[in-house]
Amino acid sequence: MTIAIDGYSSCGKSTLAKALAKELSYVYVDSGAMYRAVTYYFLKHDVAIHSEKEVDLALDKITIDFANIKGKNICFLNNENVENEIRSMRISNNVSEVAAIGKVREKLVKLQRQIARNSSIVMDGRDIGTVVFPNADIKFFVTADKTIRAERRYNELIENGKEVTLREVQQNLEHRDKVDTTRAISPLKKADDAIEIDNTHLNREDQLKLALSYITQFQKHC
Ligand code: C5P
Repeated sequence: MTIAIDGYSSCGKSTLAKALAKELSYVYVDSGAMYRAVTYYFLKHDVAIHSEKEVDLALDKITIDFANIKGKNICFLNNENVENEIRSMRISNNVSEVAAIGKVREKLVKLQRQIARNSSIVMDGRDIGTVVFPNADIKFFVTADKTIRAERRYNELIENGKEVTLREVQQNLEHRDKVDTTRAISPLKKADDAIEIDNTHLNREDQLKLALSYITQFQKHC
């Protein structure tokens, strides 16, 4: 069973994906963390993103894994726990440009499909229902009001001890949405058969209940 969740930046995709995975005992895969980890590596090693050669060489040196530690999904880059580093604004401000590179997407999509091979999964991202798993059993496209998204993200970053202003967060979300929806390869868009969930006025529990009701309906028809 594969559940694909796509949507704009900070619209609650990962909150829903994690809750569904927990409820259904599926594996949760945060595809955004993979793009963030590659961005972290590229910045750390000064990889020139417009040089195909440098990008290729760097990608060959990268491994990405996940582990569940104390109930939290942790991303490892070359066996180093980078979960905290990849959530910084520096990474958020550079990730969409890295994610627009064809070779980067090729490598990560391959990895995403490999992870899904042996387990039931819930994966969230931007191209999961359109490109990575076009035949996913269920696809959700999550949306929320722009202001609400920025406020939620800002509060989350502050709670995690990051120094950031609401304006910075708003600008970052606008920038990423623009780059993610207009890039040439696998742009963010709603799959034709995706169920849209607007969570502007929903709390976490209501959103989970709604998604579960669609999943139950789907399972009844199988
Ligand atoms: O999900 P998250 O906000 O952490 O994703 C960070 C960035 O990674 C997105 O803004 C997007 O540029 C990229 N991404 C992507 N395709 C995915 C997941 C994330 O291009 N499937």
